[in-house]
Amino acid sequence: MIYADNAATTKMSDAAIDTMNTVIRDCWGNPSSLYGTGQKAKEALEEARAKVASVIGAEPGEILFTSGGSEADNQAILSAAALGRKNGKMHIISSAFEHHAVLHTLDKLKKEGFAITLLDVHENGRIVPAELAAAIREDTCLVTIMYANNEIGVIQPVREIGAICRKKNVLFHTDAVQAVGHIPVDVEKDNIDLLSSSAHKFHGPKGVGFLYAKSGVKLANLIEGGAQERGKRGGTENVPGIAAMAEALTEANAKMTENSAHLIRMRDKLIEGLRQIPHSALNGDSRQRLPGNVNFCFEGIEGESLLLLLDDKGIQASSGSACTSGSLDPSHVLLAIGRVHDVAHGSLRLSIGEDITEADTAYIIQAVTETVSYLRSISPIWRDLINGKKEFIL
Ligand SMILES: *Cc1c(COP(=O)(O)O)cnc(C)c1O
Repeated sequence: MIYADNAATTKMSDAAIDTMNTVIRDCWGNPSSLYGTGQKAKEALEEARAKVASVIGAEPGEILFTSGGSEADNQAILSAAALGRKNGKMHIISSAFEHHAVLHTLDKLKKEGFAITLLDVHENGRIVPAELAAAIREDTCLVTIMYANNEIGVIQPVREIGAICRKKNVLFHTDAVQAVGHIPVDVEKDNIDLLSSSAHKFHGPKGVGFLYAKSGVKLANLIEGGAQERGKRGGTENVPGIAAMAEALTEANAKMTENSAHLIRMRDKLIEGLRQIPHSALNGDSRQRLPGNVNFCFEGIEGESLLLLLDDKGIQASSGSACTSGSLDPSHVLLAIGRVHDVAHGSLRLSIGEDITEADTAYIIQAVTETVSYLRSISPIWRDLINGKKEFIL
């Protein structure tokens, strides 16, 4: 079995599982309690905060633990919006291919009177910094652009985006859920004010993540309650999950150079092999992309059928994001880079993991090639394309 859906979630690392077990057993006290058992849990919590902070170039006091990437996105955007509203600035800039945790939060703010500008991501999936600079207005309170896209793996020019925001005095949030632990991220060098991350995307546990908020950026109280997480998020902390996240991130960071060199080699082999399939196209920029992401469209087939047949052949992949699978709508990300509906329907995302081998890539290429060819042989759309009743797009 080949698991190629690491953008949806990753398997926990042994080190993260061991840490989680140790903390559950030995640090079970309430971190808010003043006696020894509580303080032991508190120490585990603060050690995790320092570890997470050091990986992204932040101070421990700038890390707020959350239940994952979605909560961090909500918290970041709603906090910036609250600040904006107070200052009479109710314009937010984002892009059309953000994660739904961002887009749906922006929809909510739109109903509350905010103006939202969605920047064009162009055919290669990248923002043009000059277009961002031109879109910033007097009343812009926030720019939120993801670090790397979860479907097509495109990496944005984050440092330049951040520099523009700094110069214009606008807060910059980035959903870095696909980036942290996979490619170098440094909040100082990248000019980031708010950053979201999630443990289960870098071999940590599900249901835990963090929000980086630059010192001085005031966060809203997301959950009223006790004084945990500086009073911004009441509730007894998920100490085992947080400690395991810190362990997973430290490990991912230590192995990043080695892992990404291997992944990039395997990714490019897959891209080369799948490109040989006629009437196919790689989605997103071929260079500015995550080490483990391959995303293709194959004309004349249904992505869902491809996935089911690949599953039968022992390959677990996705047609886009886990959130849209099960719905018949084509991916909003593929539409945002200009793929038409018919073509967007025939998509395949392979998000490979570090343990992939050369033999695996050869097997994937063979299996996808055969399956696409089979699906086309029984597809009425393909027959129309071949007979010239419809025009090929790819
Ligand atoms: C997975 C993901 C999220 C959501 O993270 P959860 O921890 O599952 O809430 C947000 N943004 C991106 C880009 C993601 O890939």
